[in-house]
Amino acid sequence: MKLFQTIAKPLALLALFAASAASPPAVAADKIPVLVSFSILGDLVQVVGKDRVAVTSLVGPNEDAHVFEPKAADAKNLLQTRLLVTNGLGFEHWTQKLVKSAGYKGPVAIASQGIQPRSMQAEKGKGAESDPHAWQDPTNVAIYVRNIAAALGKLDPQGKSQYEANTEAYVKELQTLDADAKTQIAAIPADKRKVITSHDAFGYLGTHYGIKFLAPQGMSTEAEPSARDVAKLIKQIQKEKIKAVFVENMSNSKLLAQLSKDAGVTPGPELYADALSKAGGPADTYLKMMRHNMAQLVAGMKQN
Ligand code: ZN
Repeated sequence: MKLFQTIAKPLALLALFAASAASPPAVAADKIPVLVSFSILGDLVQVVGKDRVAVTSLVGPNEDAHVFEPKAADAKNLLQTRLLVTNGLGFEHWTQKLVKSAGYKGPVAIASQGIQPRSMQAEKGKGAESDPHAWQDPTNVAIYVRNIAAALGKLDPQGKSQYEANTEAYVKELQTLDADAKTQIAAIPADKRKVITSHDAFGYLGTHYGIKFLAPQGMSTEAEPSARDVAKLIKQIQKEKIKAVFVENMSNSKLLAQLSKDAGVTPGPELYADALSKAGGPADTYLKMMRHNMAQLVAGMKQN
């Protein structure tokens, strides 16, 4: 009996190994590996590519792409991909270095290609700078998904018509999202449409829907605002009686907490600016993120 047990155990283990060797690896060989720079693009590529693609994101949910630093594992990931999708507009300034250091020779699709960029005056003497946060306007995202469909179709001509059909179905969802947002905002008096966020990520949303966004930090989270800028903003919050103050999911919220304290306002719930929430969270897809943000913004502006 004892002898039987000692033999039976290794045999059972061997059977287990044989079974796992026969099952397919995590990324099925028939799927196209696509690497994206950040989580929002990950969702969009999944929407367009559905089961024909296996998507990996360099910057994950709730993480900040502005200050991301690629590691050796990311370069390895890049070499195993067949398409790299980035936002462009200077958002991922680390991409070029990563592509070069990894020796990646494959295609790079720039999702924002063809949108009308919103430019802002950078620091004095530096000239104008493009605002990278174009995904905050759903009409831009219709361009994003069409760019993604074109890049995937080029890579996988057999899937081309499927990518196009997936894209056009999604564009209809974007149009519904946009119409719903406009209805919600129409209920807010124009003079109450003012919002404070920690960094300047909602300019496209503000331009598209007629909301004035003010932020102590600029279009990137890299630089801290000056004490003078913060003091100026506090004065403006008090003068214009702005109560709609929000923190962002991927940003350092200390700055905003201090600002809220000094201005005497309570920050509202998190807005999803440059990253989705983790799976199962309130903003784990682009459409959910936009609906979540709009609901919070509308509730906040009503308090102004
Ligand atoms: Zn940002």
